[in-house]
Amino acid sequence: MEDPREALGEALAAAADTLRHHRALGFTEVALHHPEPPDSSVALAEQERALQGCTLCKLCQSRKTIVFGSGNPKAKLVVIGEGPGEEEDKQGKPFVGRAGQLLTKMLAAVKFDRERDCYICNVVKCHPERNRNPEPDEVAACNPFLLAQLDALQPAVILALGNFAAQTLLGTKDGITKLRGRAYFYRDVVLVPTFHPAFLLRNPGDQYKRMAWDDLKLARREWERLTTATT
Ligand code: URA
Repeated sequence: MEDPREALGEALAAAADTLRHHRALGFTEVALHHPEPPDSSVALAEQERALQGCTLCKLCQSRKTIVFGSGNPKAKLVVIGEGPGEEEDKQGKPFVGRAGQLLTKMLAAVKFDRERDCYICNVVKCHPERNRNPEPDEVAACNPFLLAQLDALQPAVILALGNFAAQTLLGTKDGITKLRGRAYFYRDVVLVPTFHPAFLLRNPGDQYKRMAWDDLKLARREWERLTTATT
């Protein structure tokens, strides 16, 4: 085996050669830091532009608009629903109907301002007619867009709303009543599942409201733990 001192000497000599070469080319500094990751708002705007006119699944035949997402691109909380409803399809923004109004209140109850502290999007970006569940081929077609959004956003916490979002993200068939109440890891991000606000509107009893409240407090605690600097 090669003498490690000799190998180190050769590596240093090669590095010195490279530096001399750079100096000869006129460089006076060597950048030792990695380039900044692209700005999340720029990345999201580019992704949204690239998605326009998408025909990768059959939802394109009936949608009016592609509902990409909205909120603060720098937010560390990302809220993920199932797919745009009728109102969202009209307005091009997620969670703007009745369920959206309740979501805004739920977030505010744990001191999250929807526009300032959150970025909100859906598993699929186009409205499934009659609010049916998105089908597996539709989820698969849209998944790269959700993943690219999350790569740009780099959230600390994801709040997954309802059966469909929680099951799709966590890759399980367990229902939301079983999944909720604890945090999971999804691609290195803390994910907290809770009831969809539309479900809470259909089931107005205190029982579900109390559980949703516990989940929101858990999301808030995780968000504080992960976003508060320790130095
Ligand atoms: N329901 C969802 O899951 N997403 C929306 O954007 C609106 C209603």
